[in-house]
Amino acid sequence: MASPQSLPDTQKAIRWHPPSYDIRVEDVPVPRVQHPDDAIIKVKLGALCGSDLHIYRGHGGVSQAHTCGHEFIGEVVALGENFRSNAQGRPALYSSLSVGDKVVSPFTVNCGECHVCRLGYTGRCPDGYLFGSPALEGGQAQYVRVPRAGGTLFNLSNPSTWSSALPNDVKQKALSNISDSSLLLLADILPTGVFAALQAINHPKVAPVITGKPWPLCFSKDVVPGNEVNFTDSDRMLTIAIIGLGPVGVCATVSMLDVLATRDIPFQIVAIDPIESRREKMKAVYDTIDAAGKGSGKFSVLSIDEAKVRVEEWTNGVGATAVLEVVGNTSALNLGYELVRAFGVIVSVGVHGAPPLPVTGRQLYNKNVSLDFGRCPARAMFPMAFDLLVKRQDVFGKVGEPASLIDRIVDFSQAAESYRAFDKGEVGKVIFDPWN
Ligand SMILES: [Zn+2]
Ligand SMILES: [Zn+2]
Repeated sequence: MASPQSLPDTQKAIRWHPPSYDIRVEDVPVPRVQHPDDAIIKVKLGALCGSDLHIYRGHGGVSQAHTCGHEFIGEVVALGENFRSNAQGRPALYSSLSVGDKVVSPFTVNCGECHVCRLGYTGRCPDGYLFGSPALEGGQAQYVRVPRAGGTLFNLSNPSTWSSALPNDVKQKALSNISDSSLLLLADILPTGVFAALQAINHPKVAPVITGKPWPLCFSKDVVPGNEVNFTDSDRMLTIAIIGLGPVGVCATVSMLDVLATRDIPFQIVAIDPIESRREKMKAVYDTIDAAGKGSGKFSVLSIDEAKVRVEEWTNGVGATAVLEVVGNTSALNLGYELVRAFGVIVSVGVHGAPPLPVTGRQLYNKNVSLDFGRCPARAMFPMAFDLLVKRQDVFGKVGEPASLIDRIVDFSQAAESYRAFDKGEVGKVIFDPWN
């Protein structure tokens, strides 16, 4: 294990100040190990994310100034004393992580040792915190402290420490070819996109379309004699509406296309955003993906009004089997309710604020709609997201091209302007280089 590097006393950090729209670059103390499970990371790149905007706008219920950002990639520069060669009975990184290793962190802390983490619901670990909140300083800084680091981090210097459908040598080769800016997408937005797609595909209400057996036989391996139903081709057609084509919406769409193509499920997708530049980005991304990654289903990128008409036409007025709501506000949820069919599911991965939900219990009853809300368990989703990142470097690999998810990498002097432009939908994914 390399010896800890000596750390400076102060660092530059992007900080939010109450009540809203106030982003400053400030000198703050470099974090130190506070607990034996801590790691200190020297941040190579930190990203700006749509969910940072909730606090930025003053909608996050937050009143305390803090360092922003929950997406970062970097290098381990200090470890607490619980990181040792014989840390038995603890997550493997406590025995294997070393100073100098390259790591990416999920956007929340998770212990990896509790019931909730074992079930794969790592985003809601009772010991978890969100980076870039008053509870835990964020990663839009030169250094960041990671609590419960052996359960939280991914060691990119040692790909044998996480499972994947890819063999170790393929993972190793991929890692040497993939840029840090691309790997940074594993902190949140790509796992969240994969999560949104899988929440929909795996939802019980989608099962009749996927299995070709009616409710409730879709859950049974045995066919009950006398109850067989012959589905038509249109009964087996999965109609998906994706609302919101910011960076997470693009990740969700790419992931959904990949899942449907890989599993050979007949589909039609309508991807929706009111902002034309976001629709153009989505079209460029779709055009870039090869047939193996997007299958042969119908795919339309439309404005809100166009989308309502298209779903109506495609489904004879029945509605979409599933809706991915990747915005997190009441108008997006209203649109989702309008588009979804009876016995449909709305998967929402946007961060909703305090206003009450715009749909009533009666509306949900009258359509048998399932609302599936919440934060992605990014650590649990990481292996699948990594495999998709490797496969889809045409979208996730480069910076600033028409089909690139990442728009630009900027220095801290552009922090406030980047928040402003991202808030207005004028730029896509922005990444900060804290050392430039
Ligand atoms: Zn994020
Ligand atoms: Zn836990």
